[in-house]
Amino acid sequence: MATMKAVVLRKPYEVEVMEVPKPEITDPGSVLMRVDLTAICGTDLHPFEGRVAIEDDVILGHEFIGTIEAVGSAVSLVSEGDRAVASCVVSCGHCYNCRRNRPGQCMGTMIFGLGVTFGGLSGGQAEYVIVPNADRTLRRLPEEGQGNDEDKLFVGDIMATGYEAVRKFIQPGDTVAVVGAGPVGLCAAMAAGVLGASQTIVVDKVAARLKEAESIGAIPVDADETDPADAVQDLTDWRGADVVIDAVGHPSALLSACSLVRSGGAISIPGVYTEDSIDLPFGDLYLKGVTIGQGVANITNFMDETLALIAAGKLDPSRFVSHRMPMSEATEAYRMFHDHEATKIVLDPAR
Ligand SMILES: [Zn+2]
Ligand SMILES: [Zn+2]
Repeated sequence: MATMKAVVLRKPYEVEVMEVPKPEITDPGSVLMRVDLTAICGTDLHPFEGRVAIEDDVILGHEFIGTIEAVGSAVSLVSEGDRAVASCVVSCGHCYNCRRNRPGQCMGTMIFGLGVTFGGLSGGQAEYVIVPNADRTLRRLPEEGQGNDEDKLFVGDIMATGYEAVRKFIQPGDTVAVVGAGPVGLCAAMAAGVLGASQTIVVDKVAARLKEAESIGAIPVDADETDPADAVQDLTDWRGADVVIDAVGHPSALLSACSLVRSGGAISIPGVYTEDSIDLPFGDLYLKGVTIGQGVANITNFMDETLALIAAGKLDPSRFVSHRMPMSEATEAYRMFHDHEATKIVLDPAR
């Protein structure tokens, strides 16, 4: 039996690079992909830290690009030899929500590398991965030279997620405030510039992250030194931000977002919440008429746009990559990511 190397979560906090069976196509809508690059995402830390309970021995990873090695008989939009990026979320395309353009809320949502609760798909931190519903899940990569591979890698998750979070609420000229300068927050800030924000304010407490934000033209606010609400008020004629992005997924970030948004504005939440309930100043939000948008991102709706903007040189999320490592060092990579020693780690399965 053919085997491959894969990053396996044996149990919480125990990641091992193991030799496992090489997967095979069993469904006509699937493709077998050789993974060229894969990344570790903040969401991978949910099962890693045991905050999302998944079964033992799951192959992790939902951000990857690769080369198609074999296609199922029902696949028509990609062929053997094509290079493609996969949406981290797999949707069916024909349920009630998919037909209403909400693939993130597909009745049969599957996410790579998050265990049986999310469809039992093996992840992309491996030499090979099976991509179901490939015509819908994959996008062929633009030609060589139009953006680099790492930029395109992030179209399957953090870039499309940050982009959608801004795009669903922004009007040209708006002030966008981003709470949390992690990878999704930085992608959202980058998207805000492309989508017509007059100014983008990024709130964090980590100097290196604020520096990244500044390097893409955002106004950094260090929450340890300045009250973010005061800073945003100063920059908006005392209105507050038109659109506030909670890119953290922690109740304290959401509370901060509530204090930054103007009346009639919107809070958009790409950050992931697993809490049963959260205390919010709901009367205040009601009186301010604040719109709140959240939920699993509708990645496939925004892959074409973000790939085109990457090809045009207008989005370059690869600048946020802090570490490039061989996949064989994934155990150490997870430790570093968990200990906040890395902003974004890309793994090379061939090394
Ligand atoms: Zn992710
Ligand atoms: Zn569906």
